[in-house]
Amino acid sequence: MVKTSIEDDTEIYVINDKCSKDWSVSYSVSGDSYVCGCKLFQRLGLVCSHIFWVLRNRKLKLVPDHLHGGRWLKSNFVKPVHCGFVDDIEKALIIDVATQEWRDMHGDFFEVAQTIKGNVDQIRAFRQIIAEGKKAIFGEGIVLSISDKRQMIENFYGSQAPSEIDVHPPDVVKTKGSGRRPLTRLEQAMKMKAKPGRKCAECGEVGNHDARNCKKIKEKQKIK
Ligand SMILES: [Zn+2]
Ligand SMILES: [Zn+2]
Repeated sequence: MVKTSIEDDTEIYVINDKCSKDWSVSYSVSGDSYVCGCKLFQRLGLVCSHIFWVLRNRKLKLVPDHLHGGRWLKSNFVKPVHCGFVDDIEKALIIDVATQEWRDMHGDFFEVAQTIKGNVDQIRAFRQIIAEGKKAIFGEGIVLSISDKRQMIENFYGSQAPSEIDVHPPDVVKTKGSGRRPLTRLEQAMKMKAKPGRKCAECGEVGNHDARNCKKIKEKQKIK
């Protein structure tokens, strides 16, 4: 049994279910939303048979978005997978501005964090920026903008920072004895050959030894 009445922009359907109870489903035309007196949707996120009946009666092919209620979004499964890290990801389709901003902020932060990962200088710079931003937001102390800071430093040093810094590589230093290669055996022998020989007073040979090391040299040659 169904009765229909229309008040302003709200259509009211009174549905009589199998337990002979009357439930009224109101459909707001302007808001395109359904509310049923049994409140099953509000309690469990399930579309009750009464609303469903109205949907069918209005010949809708698809269940309107707001009747999904976020219950069937995969974000409900994201939480256990990410160990509760993303604990306030969309649970409903209607997200307020603050939540949206908060999520965007997280996105911005992680984007930067990922890019500068492993770069000490950039991480330090980013932390500096965060610290300054914190002061700016909570109004602690005097916050100098980057240009103010530069101005202060330039005043302190009394000169402007050059826009272009030209750094040359250091001059190549050549120390005494560097770059010398030890002679090969052949080169050594050729050098010795080129020297004029001297006569040894011990054995009377003309060569590269003298009386002092004559014995040593002879012994060495014998071994060879
Ligand atoms: Zn209902
Ligand atoms: Zn000799």
